[in-house]
Amino acid sequence: MQPLDIAREALRRLAMRQLQPTPENYRSLYHEIAGTKAEELFPERALKLVCSTLPRLNQAQIEFAQRLESAIGSRSWSAISGSLVGLLRAQAAPQRKWTALLKDVFRQLERTHASLSFAQKNQSLQQVLDSSNGELDALYSRLSALADKWEAADAAATPSSAPVEAPSAAAATDNSDAALRDLFARTLEGVVSSLLIAAPELRDEAIELGGVLREVRDMRGVDDLAARLRNLIYRLNWVVDDQAEIRTGLMSLLDLLLKNISDLVVDDRWMRGQIDALRNLCDHPISARELDEVERRLREVIERQGSLRGNIDDAKHQIKLMLAGFVEQLGSFTDATTGFGDKMEGYARTISEADDIGSLQGVIAEVISATHEMRQTTERSRNEVDTMRDRVRAAEAEIERLQLELEQTSERMRHDPLTGALNRKGLEESYAKEVSRASRRGTTLCLAVLDIDNFKRLNDTYGHNTGDEALLHLVATVRDCLRPHDTLSRYGGEEFVILLPETSIDDSVVVLQRLQRELTKRFFLANNDKLLITFSAGVTVVLQDEKQSSAIERADVAMYQAKATGKNRVVVSPADAATV
Ligand code: GH3
Ligand code: MG
Ligand code: MG
Repeated sequence: MQPLDIAREALRRLAMRQLQPTPENYRSLYHEIAGTKAEELFPERALKLVCSTLPRLNQAQIEFAQRLESAIGSRSWSAISGSLVGLLRAQAAPQRKWTALLKDVFRQLERTHASLSFAQKNQSLQQVLDSSNGELDALYSRLSALADKWEAADAAATPSSAPVEAPSAAAATDNSDAALRDLFARTLEGVVSSLLIAAPELRDEAIELGGVLREVRDMRGVDDLAARLRNLIYRLNWVVDDQAEIRTGLMSLLDLLLKNISDLVVDDRWMRGQIDALRNLCDHPISARELDEVERRLREVIERQGSLRGNIDDAKHQIKLMLAGFVEQLGSFTDATTGFGDKMEGYARTISEADDIGSLQGVIAEVISATHEMRQTTERSRNEVDTMRDRVRAAEAEIERLQLELEQTSERMRHDPLTGALNRKGLEESYAKEVSRASRRGTTLCLAVLDIDNFKRLNDTYGHNTGDEALLHLVATVRDCLRPHDTLSRYGGEEFVILLPETSIDDSVVVLQRLQRELTKRFFLANNDKLLITFSAGVTVVLQDEKQSSAIERADVAMYQAKATGKNRVVVSPADAATV
């Protein structure tokens, strides 16, 4: 049939069946006559209208609307159905609040539990992380279970900290309110109270206010709490002022002690040097690092003073003994001369009273013998005095030597005598201190090995003394360029080690390169020749609790690379370069 015939027949059947002449009725009769299938119209306009009214308030809604829009655009019912099914599924899936969960886990981790140590909690957390194999569903549910377990442990330990009644306000606001409350309460109970050891009354008040803060539920309670807090703050100001005053007082007391301590010791040359160093350290607000230094120096003063003073006291005792012996000798010598005088007086009397020369013979023989004896005594005494004088001189020289040793010992114990930089022993001490400080504070410690370039040639050309002066020149330049808490040690002949606390590997390289630039500006003069001292350096990050030898070995390897690739360079250890 032709379309025209079909249309005519359709109109006829419409009239015959008494149907309303609507497009739908006409369409179904038309297909009936033509023997075709009535294809449904795609309601694109209506669907687009619906789509345009969809809310787009968050990312998920925006994505859904876009997906639906494109399904309508492609006139695909299956795509439209897919986007609707996806929407419903997403709504049915459990909502994961990762941020809230992680906040909760961290809060519980930091919290003090009576029945759980931090290490135990840390271990449990590690196990959960390891066992979840990157599967987010599993990780979420295990972390939630862990947080619940910790929460329950805490509730069992401190029942008073549980909320009194479930608040009716919006849950989200309540959560952050509770977290803030807890944080503030812990600040009062843990931090503020620990700073108030010297004021027990205020410490108790701070702890009590922490408890009140957890419990308070209504405005009246808040007002009371605010009044008590204001009062606490007011009194805290006084305590802070007092403590500052006490600290200043203690420092000036220490200064006074140090100033006068040299008057208390007899041989004070060495002590004076040490004490000046201590006073220099104490004449400004002191840091924990400097306090360590003060303690270390005082310990050294006390130890070395003890042992070397013992030696000096021995030497003095020897002198005293010798002097006593000398005085004794002098006494017997005086006795001998007095006896001689008496005898001579007796002989003179006999001689003046003698009648004949014959009777004088015996007296003369006695005079000769007494004089001879006297000469022997005198000679013996003179010899003894000479010996004693020699021994006194030797003992004095020994005391002088010991005094000098005492003066130099402390420096020599930790410092290299030529350059004054730390020696290996000094480096070991500083290294141990810095490694533990870095691990305690979670900061980065870097270590650099420096080796002067072509130093042998400088020695061969200008002599060993000039070589020594070049070492001093390098050390002086390094000292000027480094920060006060960096330490320089002489590790070997012309090799040095620098420790750079709280410094990243990149910054360490910058520090060393600045040092190289500074050396190019400061010439070293040898026999009127302006010489350029350069060095090659290797630098590495010290690993947590790493042994000194292993960190130095790594920096040394990098230093040799610097030598091998042209000298006067800074090379980062390949191990660090991989992670930078
Ligand atoms: P490179 O650039 O490869 O490091 O060559 P270099 O000549 O610096 O190295 P080498 O190890 O061959 O020589 C180091 C020299 O340093 C040899 C030694 O005589 C000298 N030296 C070591 N300690 C001292 C010191 O205390 N004073 C002086 N003047 N020289 C020293
Ligand atoms: Mg060398
Ligand atoms: Mg060298």
